[in-house]
Formats: sequence, structure tokens, C-alpha cells
Amino acid sequence: MPNRTLNARKRIALVAHDHKKADLIQWASANKERLVSHELYATGTTGKLLQVTLETTVTCLLSGPLGGDQQIGAMIAEGKIDVLIFFWDPMSAQPHDPDIKALLRLVAVWDIPMACDRATADFIIASPLMSQPYESILPDYDAYLKRKV
Ligand code: PGA
Repeated sequence: MPNRTLNARKRIALVAHDHKKADLIQWASANKERLVSHELYATGTTGKLLQVTLETTVTCLLSGPLGGDQQIGAMIAEGKIDVLIFFWDPMSAQPHDPDIKALLRLVAVWDIPMACDRATADFIIASPLMSQPYESILPDYDAYLKRKV
């Protein structure tokens, strides 16, 4: 089984849809001390809001509908993101729905801890594993890669 070691300092990606941005900012503010000890990434608009709230550097990618979700998905596939906090809006249709679905799929492919709501985000951020190295046991994709085509 291939493993992946996550450092004590995690690379956290944060995304919030428009109707969930207030929730995310409130949560981030309540967890500022913990969050700023990690390396933070976010989609464009979410990232700008987080930088103001957390008073720290957040690497801002493109806005979600312009490709930001896809950028985070690519970083997950490349092993560059350890945790995803993704407050998606279950009550509104999004123009970039296929990108959201793709991101959620890659999270499952690469065994990424993800929170889609505040309660799960609280459990993740409070986990002792957030401040220590963690050995992620990835699914074994060898059989898939070696399949006959
Ligand atoms: P935004 O993108 O942070 O640029 O608003 C989030 C999204 O809608 O996926």
C-alpha cells in the first residue's frame, strides 16, 4: 500500500460558496489561532475575505467558477493539499457544478479529510492529528494502473 506522510503543518484549502461565505468567515475567525499555524490556500474571493479575517497570508487561486475548484483538485492530485474545508451551498445551483463534483471526487480518490459544514470543520480543526505528522494510507491503485487496455 502506498503511504503519504502529512506534516504537522498542514496545507489547508478553503472554499465557500457565496451563501456560505459568512459561515466560513465566522468559523475561521473562531479558529484563527489554529488556522494561522498552517499553510492556507483558497479560491479567489474566499481567500481575500480570509486574509482580512485571519491577518495572514492565504494563497489565493482563481475564483471557483473561473477554475479555482479545478486548481485545488489538481493540487490534491499532485499531493499538495492535505485538508479541504469546503462549505458548498446545498440550497443553490452553481454554474460550476461539474467542477464541484470533480473536486469532491478527487477528495475521495486521494483520502483527503474534508469538511462540508461547520460541525465537521470543528471536529477536524480540533483533532490532535492536525498538529502532528500523519501517515495517510492511500488506496492501492496499482492494479488499476497495470490493467490491460
Ligand atoms: P470564490 O469561489 O471563493 O472565488 O467565491 C468559491 C466557489 O464558488 O467555488
